[in-house]
Amino acid sequence: MPQLKRKLLILGGTKEAASLAQQAVDKFGPQLEVITSLAGRTKFPKPLPGEVHIGGFGGSQGLADYISHNSIDMLIDATHPFAAQISAHAAQACTQTNTPRLTFCRPKWQQTEADTWHRFKTFEEAAKALPKLSKRPFLTVGKQGAEHFSTNSVGCYFILRLLEEPAAPLPFKNYEVVIGKPPFSAEDEIVLFKKHQADALVTKESGGKTTEGKILAARQLGLPVIVIERPKMPDGEKVGSVEGCLAWANQCNS
Ligand code: NAP
Repeated sequence: MPQLKRKLLILGGTKEAASLAQQAVDKFGPQLEVITSLAGRTKFPKPLPGEVHIGGFGGSQGLADYISHNSIDMLIDATHPFAAQISAHAAQACTQTNTPRLTFCRPKWQQTEADTWHRFKTFEEAAKALPKLSKRPFLTVGKQGAEHFSTNSVGCYFILRLLEEPAAPLPFKNYEVVIGKPPFSAEDEIVLFKKHQADALVTKESGGKTTEGKILAARQLGLPVIVIERPKMPDGEKVGSVEGCLAWANQCNS
């Protein structure tokens, strides 16, 4: 009897999710239908293999309904480590529908003896402490993350790196915007930090290779790094590589 086609839903929006979709299509071929879902924040997302679902599901119940109506057999949460809401929804929806779920957990950056890291649990705590640590911080926390700093970090001159030019002026007193899309090499980051006379780096604890250049650059220049720690992930099985995701999907598929 021919094997029934199975369906994998990948919660995406990251480089690793895109790579997983490609590798899953290549590895499993017609045995597995691969659907990647994106929040819809990027105007022109790069094309993905398999099916693509764009836009939110409408909370955990909406996701549970989507899983049921589309007969999803397994879900891999490959969203960004700071996309805490969709991960919580995925955990609830999979429990409710009894759907196997795996979380891809991007490896963290490792602090070395050469690094001065100041770790904070929240954006607010980091923003309040920042004026004592830096006068010209290089801020790499996205537009939403940056808003916490506009009210809490009085007296700083901000160099804000964003993915795209903001549509309207940002609510900062003293700032400039640098536009850039990853990957960023350490060499280029060093040039940029020097050019803008940054005296500290502010970053989310995103981890991964594509944005590690700023961590390496700060290390080389001896700049302090203000790190906002990752939110807690839901319980459940986790892997730290795309290969681990494929092995899990293979196991679920057999
Ligand atoms: P979030 O706060 O966890 O999610 C907010 C809402 O957006 C969710 O409740 C869900 O809406 C929708 N959503 C998020 N990810 C989705 C996905 N992959 N597919 C369908 N709907 C999704 O997420 P966020 O921090 O705004 O991030 C949005 C997306 O950008 C994520 O997919 C993430 O992987 C990517 N991203 C985030 C960051 C970051 O720093 N946060 C960085 C790089 C990429 P409903 O409740 O309506 O389902």
